[in-house]
Amino acid sequence: GVVLQLDAVGKSYRTGTLRVDALRGIDLGIGVGEYVAIMGPSGSGKSTLMHILGCLDTPTSGTYRLVGVDVGELTEDELAEVRNRLVGFVFQQFNLLAHLTALRNVELPLAYAGVPGDERRRRALAALDRVGLSDRVGHRPRELSGGQQQRVAIARALVTDPALILADEPTGNLDSRSTRDVLALFDELHDQGRTLVLITHEEEVAARAQRVLRIHDGGLRVPAQAVRR
Ligand code: ADP
Ligand code: ADP
Repeated sequence: GVVLQLDAVGKSYRTGTLRVDALRGIDLGIGVGEYVAIMGPSGSGKSTLMHILGCLDTPTSGTYRLVGVDVGELTEDELAEVRNRLVGFVFQQFNLLAHLTALRNVELPLAYAGVPGDERRRRALAALDRVGLSDRVGHRPRELSGGQQQRVAIARALVTDPALILADEPTGNLDSRSTRDVLALFDELHDQGRTLVLITHEEEVAARAQRVLRIHDGGLRVPAQAVRR
């Protein structure tokens, strides 16, 4: 099955009379269970592509379908709903809420989705167990290491059982040991059939994926070929 499909996707930003074509003519299909890395220099369009894949923004031309939904046709509210239901985000800065425990942070996407409290708690505990943090559920972010905070963020990304896990420089703030832990976790998720898209500057990180896409000046360069890991 297909998770996402971009056809001739373009994204332009306008500031006054100036127009920047951040993405141009992106054609890309990603299937269920694929593990894809996206690389490119600063300013090449990685963040813009990530925002579109994650339904944080919509294309200015072309079409983006996520699990068959034409994202360009949605209202802001529908887009937010699709984002919360279908996409799990992992960010460089973890983006955990400082005043909430690990458990409450992981419960958040379920709270937005209207899942009742007892089911929320059960699923959040299972997700934290999945990332090896059963003994840290009551800790707040500042009481956790960077690697542990990123694992809480991965639990939050998993808890809604999303169609797509989107990770933007997930190891950018981690030491080498935590980087290894997080990449091992991504390998496990991939082995379990999850669909992962990872944006990174680091060749060693990208090399863990099945397929590496390179973006330059808003366009995908190398034909997207699957390789065996
Ligand atoms: P990357 O993540 O690879 O660094 P971006 O997607 O952030 O690249 O940026 C791609 C291009 O779009 C750059 O030229 C950048 O300056 C421009 N750009 C990004 N966001 C905006 C914005 N909100 N307004 C205007 N230009 C933008
Ligand atoms: P940056 O542009 O500095 O790389 P991030 O990658 O941290 O920023 O975040 C990218 C975008 O995603 C931002 O616009 C941010 O507001 C938004 N965002 C951050 N956390 C979440 C979340 N949990 N769910 C949805 N959107 C988020």
